Amino acid sequence: MTETGQLLDQLRAVVGPPNVIVDADERASYEVDWTRRFRGEALAVVRPASTAETVAVVRACHEHGARMVPQGGNTGLVGGSVPRGGEVVVSTRRMDEIGPLDDDAGEIVVGSGAVLEAVQAAVRPAGWDVGVDLGARGSCTIGGMVATNAGGEHVVRDGPMAEQVLGLEGVLAGGAVVGRVPALRKDNTGYRWHRILTGSEGTLAVITRVHLRLVRRPKAQVTALVGLASFPDALALAGAFHRDIEGLDALEAFFADGLDFVQQHIDLADPFPQPAAAYLLAEAGAAETDEAVREMGATVEAARGVVGAAVATDAAGRARLWRYREAHPEVANSSGIPHKLDVTLPFDALPRFPDEVRRRIAAVAPDARVLLFGHVGDGNLHVNVLGPAPEDYAVDDAVLGLVVELGGSISAEHGVGIAKRDWLARYRTADDLEAMRAVKRALDPQGLLNPGVIFTP
Ligand SMILES: Cc1cc2nc3c(=O)[nH]c(=O)nc-3n(C[C@H](O)[C@H](O)[C@H](O)COP(=O)(O)OP(=O)(O)OC[C@H]3O[C@@H](n4cnc5c(N)ncnc54)[C@H](O)[C@@H]3O)c2cc1C
Repeated sequence: MTETGQLLDQLRAVVGPPNVIVDADERASYEVDWTRRFRGEALAVVRPASTAETVAVVRACHEHGARMVPQGGNTGLVGGSVPRGGEVVVSTRRMDEIGPLDDDAGEIVVGSGAVLEAVQAAVRPAGWDVGVDLGARGSCTIGGMVATNAGGEHVVRDGPMAEQVLGLEGVLAGGAVVGRVPALRKDNTGYRWHRILTGSEGTLAVITRVHLRLVRRPKAQVTALVGLASFPDALALAGAFHRDIEGLDALEAFFADGLDFVQQHIDLADPFPQPAAAYLLAEAGAAETDEAVREMGATVEAARGVVGAAVATDAAGRARLWRYREAHPEVANSSGIPHKLDVTLPFDALPRFPDEVRRRIAAVAPDARVLLFGHVGDGNLHVNVLGPAPEDYAVDDAVLGLVVELGGSISAEHGVGIAKRDWLARYRTADDLEAMRAVKRALDPQGLLNPGVIFTP
């Protein structure tokens, strides 16, 4: 029997034959990412159901020198969740157990394959919530969110995924289990695996279970959509929201041309009778609805350049306002294969960034369509570019070059993956990178876990 045949037999013995997928049609959805920009053939897809099964799967791969790609919901946007060619995809989706909820502490232990929306549904009736929320909530998994240190829509209030994780359990490339679940709130006993593995993008371990700290959402929530005459006006209002609204928990932006493009593809009414140049979506919580509306209203009234404003306090109305913002990535994706550049700018560089980035893109791809939107409260904008071929990196270079010049980050929240690895040397110092490689070598000397992700091979 060939070595591959032996490995597949060993994997079947661990997870059962239906959970080792080798058929090309059945593998297909695991082999291409959400944007369709990144794809590759897998040797097989393996679906362990527990930490013990994951250990046995990883050990078998290690024994045969087989490279592995951990995969959760496959909504990652930088190519890290799909094979490059010949790897075993370790899908965590069967590890989807949730709870029980610790209602007194506001904590829950979940399997890494639990989908965010399912965890939200389990904890919200008791008044708790997961601190991170994002548009991919129906598919992304908690393990994937930890592995990418996902940010999303409430970072202004609750921070990214790193701040939600109390502890985790992960399987290293040789099969050792690290971390502790359930974890303790206070535990200063040396290196903390949840800190090391958060944001490691599947290159150091397969995360199997996560202990989450939950957040309390205020009883009343109000969402406001404000149209403004210019992006600097939108930024000035964003600053005022930051200063004035204690319960601020989201601050998002998009632009007139993006809204126009979204409206060409989906049925969305104009938000205001007058068109605006830039739009700011803000959400805040308070003990009383009236109080939240009053506070937000006063801040908007005092702002300059307001073209129109809408406020919603009920779930349906708030979802309607969010739709204007959340439809952007959806429409970008359904209209082609977007180059997705997710960047953070220092706040003082933000006002000039939109015009300058459009100029730089036009210089290398005059016919490209640019969609700008994002979590402006964190200085984070998503630059989506439609038109250039997936393998053409001229636009990526133009955008990321500008970001580095302005002192920003080349990846705000999506990670490095394979999309941005060649850029890392221009962003992190040589010492930084060597220390990162040393960590990788120490934990995965054969380079079996997600090779080619973060580090250029
Ligand atoms: C419509 C849309 C909106 C989005 N909005 C946001 C946003 O606002 N903020 C944001 O941060 N991201 C956003 N994303 C990106 C994406 O949803 C996040 O990166 C998410 O955290 C990925 O989770 P996943 O389970 O899909 O991971 P996958 O895509 O499966 O994997 C992502 C990376 O994590 C690794 N990985 C996955 N699971 C594990 C595990 N258990 N152990 C070890 N490594 C693992 C993979 O190898 C890969 O490198 C969005 C994506 C879409 C499609």
